[in-house]
Amino acid sequence: MDTVIPAPPQPTLAVAGETARFPVRRIFCVGRNYAAHAREMGKDPDREPPFFFTKPADAVLDAGADAGAAIPYPPETEDLHHEIELVLAIGAEGAEVPQARARELIYGYCVGIDLTRRDLQAEAKKMGRPWDWGKAFDRSAPCAPIVKAGDAGAVDRARIWLSVNGETRQDASVEELIWDAPEIIAIVSRSMTLKPGDLIFTGTPAGVAALQPGDAVRGGVGDLPEIALDIGDRDAQG
Ligand code: MN
Repeated sequence: MDTVIPAPPQPTLAVAGETARFPVRRIFCVGRNYAAHAREMGKDPDREPPFFFTKPADAVLDAGADAGAAIPYPPETEDLHHEIELVLAIGAEGAEVPQARARELIYGYCVGIDLTRRDLQAEAKKMGRPWDWGKAFDRSAPCAPIVKAGDAGAVDRARIWLSVNGETRQDASVEELIWDAPEIIAIVSRSMTLKPGDLIFTGTPAGVAALQPGDAVRGGVGDLPEIALDIGDRDAQG
């Protein structure tokens, strides 16, 4: 196909044990999906319907342990936060998917960090404005390699953790999710058709905190490949 400007490259993520890569279509993220994190953000956790925000597909970054992933400290923030999350990689299309069939859509799982410019998000909340500037910036969705669902083990009961410079900051169990993977897929697919290539960040447990230039961030979910991300110096424009 001829295009009037160069077509943008397809964002992709590594898949463990495969040379072929996972093409990323959209990134959905669940807000406040662990009760203790909802409380630390000043909200009462209950089973109100979950809410979502999105990031652009090209916010992904390969951040497996041997990828040497590093990002500059992002612009326009003084309060960059880490949020370790279990990520669902969608491999099949589905609309109005019943919970009982939701797992059929999951190609695999990976560990991701929902990087957040918390000061910009807080300002947006206060002003009743969209969260995009706090959540959807360049390289805001680093991910470790995806593991096929059949090889991923019991991710629904796995430990989820994150450390900064060797000190544990987040440590919980995926069992503590308020809305689990099948429920999230059922709910999203009532509003829009899920498509192959979509990622769903399922939410972060308590312990979110600020990152500084020079920090070494590591994290994991059960036996999935760990994520490793180094935060560099400030860079006005990534
Ligand atoms: Mn999050």
